[in-house]
Amino acid sequence: MNSRRDFLQKLGLSALALQLVPYSGWAAGTDKTEQVYDGPVLRVAIMGLGGYGTIVAEAMRKCTKAKLVGVISGTPSKVKAWQSKYGIPEKNCYNYENFDNIKNNSDIDAVYVITPNGLHHDFVIRVAAAGKHAICEKPMAVNAKEGQEMVDACKKANVKLLVGYRMHFEPKTLEVIRMRQNGEFGKIRFFQGQCGFTIGDPTQWRLNKKLAGGGSMMDIGIYAINGSRYMTGEEPIWVTAQETKTDTVKFKEGVDETIQFQFGFPSGAVASCLSTYNMNNLDRFFLDGEKGFAEMQPSTGYGPIKGRTHLGELNQPVTTHQTVQMDEMCEIIFNNKKPVVPVNGEEGVKDLKIIDAIYLAVKTGKKVEVSV
Ligand code: NDP
Repeated sequence: MNSRRDFLQKLGLSALALQLVPYSGWAAGTDKTEQVYDGPVLRVAIMGLGGYGTIVAEAMRKCTKAKLVGVISGTPSKVKAWQSKYGIPEKNCYNYENFDNIKNNSDIDAVYVITPNGLHHDFVIRVAAAGKHAICEKPMAVNAKEGQEMVDACKKANVKLLVGYRMHFEPKTLEVIRMRQNGEFGKIRFFQGQCGFTIGDPTQWRLNKKLAGGGSMMDIGIYAINGSRYMTGEEPIWVTAQETKTDTVKFKEGVDETIQFQFGFPSGAVASCLSTYNMNNLDRFFLDGEKGFAEMQPSTGYGPIKGRTHLGELNQPVTTHQTVQMDEMCEIIFNNKKPVVPVNGEEGVKDLKIIDAIYLAVKTGKKVEVSV
């Protein structure tokens, strides 16, 4: 652990200058606040310098409580580029063969695993064995069994395991959750989640069963699953699901193109969702209660998230999701802060149990009971 004050002092700034250094934090309700942060800073190494890793790294430039200090990559040219772009010292650069040595590096607190899904399990377990906190992208693993093994490994190593559920920190999403908890929608009856896009390059890892763990469900359908849980505030007790495949060349065995799925909740509420790699403009949540509704579109993209309820437009501030997520993860890791919606490994396993049940329902054509 290191504090922002330590960082700035290393830079030779005086106490007076420290008082004048502003930080951006969402807690005050905007992206910019003029306050000084003097708590611990989460020093992060990103593993997997691809599309999303790059987005996270850029977003972390604006973090107050988290800092990118290291990389783990299989591509030396990317490492060089990131070193100069983010000022990363040689001693904080690793590849997939030697990153277990990170255990000897006291300048790194956590590793953020942003590789293809099928690799999360083994990499997180190695991160835990190295004694570092693990942040893992969604889906946390390719099935609940693997997810649970990751939770167990992190527990055993006494490190935290967090999943990159950036929506759990998004202001409009949190407002809908607050309204629901406050009874403003009345008894919840129905949730609808539609998530999808048309996927391109047929050779990419997202269409490779071993690396992706499945198809659209693993990648984008998980947002509707996770959303159905935080929007209704309930856990599904049964699942039904139907698959449609129009292109068996692009979407091979075990790689789902489109799945429609339904949940039943203990209260009697139901959900109807769609996950697809073959339709555009699908990023929409709808929550219906006896006294009101919430509608969000886009609901889980990078933003800006837009939405309205029966009371009018949602006008909470627009944030950079990954900036807020990483600052909040510092608080969770170092100060045991409890987010409104959990982002721990157990939360990731719940989504995976539901995904397992959806795939089983597709295979058997039967209603599958689920307990998460
Ligand atoms: P990319 O393909 O853009 O990047 C993945 C990176 O992983 C590669 O660039 C590579 O980095 C590394 N890698 C290691 N082994 C392999 C391998 N066998 N094949 C391909 N890449 C490998 O994927 P994304 O960044 O889009 O996705 C990565 C993870 O992030 C996924 O789990 C995905 O679900 C998640 N994600 C989450 C999002 C969110 O909003 N929360 C959005 C997008 C993705 P290197 O060359 O440095 O080794």
